[in-house]
Amino acid sequence: MSVQFFGEDILFLQRFLQGAGFYTSKLDGIYGEKTDAALNAFEERTQEISDTFGQFDARSERNIASLNPKAQEVARKFLKKVRDAGIDARIISGTRTYVEQDALFRKGRFGNPPPIVTKAKGGRSNHNFGIAWDIGIFNGGAYLEESPLYDKAAEVGLAPELEWGGHWESFKDKPHYQLATGLVIASVRDRFEVGQAIV
Ligand SMILES: [Zn+2]
Repeated sequence: MSVQFFGEDILFLQRFLQGAGFYTSKLDGIYGEKTDAALNAFEERTQEISDTFGQFDARSERNIASLNPKAQEVARKFLKKVRDAGIDARIISGTRTYVEQDALFRKGRFGNPPPIVTKAKGGRSNHNFGIAWDIGIFNGGAYLEESPLYDKAAEVGLAPELEWGGHWESFKDKPHYQLATGLVIASVRDRFEVGQAIV
């Protein structure tokens, strides 16, 4: 994979790779040989997981490849179960850098056109730590923003290591899934930013 992974946010890439166990050098935001070697090792692991758990559509593949390897495994097992149940689900969102999250947060706010699409700024969403994804359900190639199939997908796809946004009390987010960490998000963020493992 190219340096384009996570845009040009090399510090984010290093944190991501260190938390996943592929990078042990300084979090300095500089793309050098050690970052390159860590990214290559990560990509090899991504390929192994894909070979083991099976492949999906191109968009799901792109988004799964942006996840922490543990999340990649769980996501592939999840998606296989959902698709085997006859639901055309795809993973339409994976990891976002803080900068990408901030850009989403501005949608619908500060004079930008509606709708508001997220409550979370950069560093406040599990999508920023490589452990969350969103699904989209499709019917004949058309994206369904709402459908009873989102509930059905959770019914067949949920696993003990997974949390579903549809179970949230305050704001139900049925397309959203994340690895259970047992940590509050501030602790997840603290660990991620110093390159510690989250899962
Ligand atoms: Zn989400």
